[in-house]
Amino acid sequence: VMQYDHQVDLLVVGSGAGAMTAALRAAHAGAQVLIVEKAEHYGGTSATSGGGLWIPCNHLMRDCGIDDSDDEALRYLRALCADDVPDANLRAFVDGGPRMLRWLCEHSQVRYQAMAYYADYYQHLDGAKPGGRSIDPIAYDARELGSDFAQLQAPHIQTRVLGLIGYTNTEGAVLLSKSPGWFGLLLKLLRDYLLDLPWRLRSLRSRRLTMGNALIGRLRRSLADAAVPLWCNSPMRELLTDLGGVTGAIIECNGRPIRIKARHGVVLGTGGYEFNQALREQHLPSPTRRQWSAASPHNTGDGLLAAQAIGAGTALMDQAWWGPTMVVPGEDRARMLFTERSMPGAIVVNRRGERFVNESVAYTTAVQAMLVDDNLPSYLIFDARYLRDYPFGPLLPGGMHLNWLQPPKMHRLLKRGASLAALAEQLSIDAYGLQRSVARFNGFARSGVDEDFHRGENPYDRLYGDVRIKPNACLAPLSESPYYGIEIYPGDIGTKGGLRTDEHARVLRNDGAVIDGLYAIGNCAASVTGRYYPGAGATLGPAMTFGFLAAEHACQQL
Ligand code: FAD
Repeated sequence: VMQYDHQVDLLVVGSGAGAMTAALRAAHAGAQVLIVEKAEHYGGTSATSGGGLWIPCNHLMRDCGIDDSDDEALRYLRALCADDVPDANLRAFVDGGPRMLRWLCEHSQVRYQAMAYYADYYQHLDGAKPGGRSIDPIAYDARELGSDFAQLQAPHIQTRVLGLIGYTNTEGAVLLSKSPGWFGLLLKLLRDYLLDLPWRLRSLRSRRLTMGNALIGRLRRSLADAAVPLWCNSPMRELLTDLGGVTGAIIECNGRPIRIKARHGVVLGTGGYEFNQALREQHLPSPTRRQWSAASPHNTGDGLLAAQAIGAGTALMDQAWWGPTMVVPGEDRARMLFTERSMPGAIVVNRRGERFVNESVAYTTAVQAMLVDDNLPSYLIFDARYLRDYPFGPLLPGGMHLNWLQPPKMHRLLKRGASLAALAEQLSIDAYGLQRSVARFNGFARSGVDEDFHRGENPYDRLYGDVRIKPNACLAPLSESPYYGIEIYPGDIGTKGGLRTDEHARVLRNDGAVIDGLYAIGNCAASVTGRYYPGAGATLGPAMTFGFLAAEHACQQL
């Protein structure tokens, strides 16, 4: 008979948003729950994210007057992933997402607002919406976390003004598009940060948690209210089984293995295999490097490997939530270029100097274009006007005269040339090709029509346009010297292939049989959105939905 050191009803492995949702739902159903986290800090990539959720038919979009239906959501999702994802899983997501969100809003500290303007990523498909399915976490006061704040994973540097001050997605949209009031908002954020003297004496970190930090902070507080323990520095090493079913896991705690019995199941929420170079090379298109990922460096595929070791099946292993990234030396993860390639006055070219994609498409589609047709290495090219008017990565728009606050290594990453030919030489791009592409593009900027890639022709493209640019807010000429360029990588914000699961998030063997007692959610499981990224928040929305559904299933027999 197996001996255990500790017993619980549900063991949740990892502390991303989906894992925490599972733990909270189970605790409210009366289960005794334990969360174990490998890293010193809790929250994983989820804490460093935008915290946006993509939930079709959510109640918040209806409050903004945007209609949606299960039928439209399913038509959209089926068009994208019917070939790759069981229909039962799609239906479980569409039905479970709004339920999960409403339950969290009623039973926890989690609060959201709809982003009425944030369009689904494939606007040409039947069932796509011009906004509302993506929702933004409401900011949260770190004081509510008490001593638990110290172990909250800090936000990604790219989501902070001056590397310090957080903003919500909704505020970010105002700042970026320079919509009316943007400068006042910037001053307010700076003033509130600087004048928060008691907190400033304690920490450089802002007390106002936003984006993924707001989501994880709110979940953490709710878990504390429900008395759910969370052990950091406690990696799962192995799953324990009996007669083929999972009965618990071995957790390493202070260097000592602890055998934990999980009476009603183990939920794997260990993230993807972003930082496991060997798994990347085995599964992802090459070239691939873990340094190109903007995800948590602790995500090395542990849950995936542990479940495979007991016979779990996998799917979609060659897929990631792709995004073009840049790598700043000395930082522990890459920075994702969410907006930079889309703002007018920047283009993406290959080493022949040719454009190959509508630069304003969503990030996953952008990398899918980089990975075909010999388009690597790829470069982002822009001119002096662009650098002055828009934030480039951590460089603030020069118009604010704050660029000098950025570290010199950032400036060194950007290559600069007095002419396009001089820039092309520095980047080893074909100079004639680049000049020709820019001349053609500048013609499109004048006419307002991108005859090659149709940039700016749909609401998603225009999200990161500049309304002051006419006639097409996404097309501005590159005409003001000096010119700038930087190599960009086919990076990711997470891998999205993983364990095969059913509509209750139960892990399946390759023959489709259920492994009793084992659930997988988030990037540790094969994604319910197949090879695509339906809209902003489509990684966390499903992770939390299936965390919720896994807990409901596991707690049925309590
Ligand atoms: P994670 O949140 O990374 O959690 C996994 C956890 O498991 C980690 O804490 C890890 O340390 C832990 N772990 C790993 N191995 C073990 C082990 N052996 N034992 C115990 N614990 C272990 N997605 C959206 O949907 N919306 C957004 O707005 C969004 N914005 C983003 C912005 C940025 C800058 C980035 C980088 C990503 C963004 N993403 C967004 C992507 C999203 O953050 C991830 O896809 C998501 O957080 C993955 O959730 P997860 O629970 O699978 O993994």
